[in-house]
Amino acid sequence: MLVTLGTDAPKNAVRLFNNADLAGWTTRKGEAPGWRVDEDSVLHVVPGTGDIMTEARFTDFFLHLEFRCPDMPEATGQHKANGGVFLQGRYEVQVLDSYGIDIPGTGDCGAVYHQSAPLTNACLPPTQWQSYDIAFRAPRCGEGHAVLEPTRLSVFLNGVLIQNNVALAGMTGAPIDKAVHEPGPLLLQDHKDLVCYRNIWLVELPLAGSTTYEPR
Ligand code: MG
Repeated sequence: MLVTLGTDAPKNAVRLFNNADLAGWTTRKGEAPGWRVDEDSVLHVVPGTGDIMTEARFTDFFLHLEFRCPDMPEATGQHKANGGVFLQGRYEVQVLDSYGIDIPGTGDCGAVYHQSAPLTNACLPPTQWQSYDIAFRAPRCGEGHAVLEPTRLSVFLNGVLIQNNVALAGMTGAPIDKAVHEPGPLLLQDHKDLVCYRNIWLVELPLAGSTTYEPR
């Protein structure tokens, strides 16, 4: 397994979390976020304070982040360490304690929520740090914002490919808006469970594809 935990941001990355406070983040209502950062530079959901999102907005990008689910042995299903990573604030890649589930479904960790189940279960046990590496391609829109090319994404969970260039049917639940033709923020979900995050950065990708790889 390729371990991407602790991967440092390349020089062209945008560091979304500064390891100290929530500068650059807001809530869905545009208010100061209520989440907390501890002395180890870990970002904690404070249940009930609401989702948080970056003030900056993005189109195509490669995202890295790390998350940790609490151990909730009595909880089941969607109540078991639920969080979420909303790409552009419109497409949720699920965070959940799905460790040990034989065949993960569209609500499990690594799913595009209610659209695309992960290819395999790459989850680690709760209380362990896990990594997401996500390549996101925004939809391409034409006249009247009609979607000409769908949103696409690939997701690696703990170094394992679990979403392979999946074309999305549309937004997942609770998007920030319906303006899919516009850039959007990274949003982290408060589902009232004690999920944590760290090492959050992305590299904005050129809309026409790579400009740095030059085959000879
Ligand atoms: Mg969720």
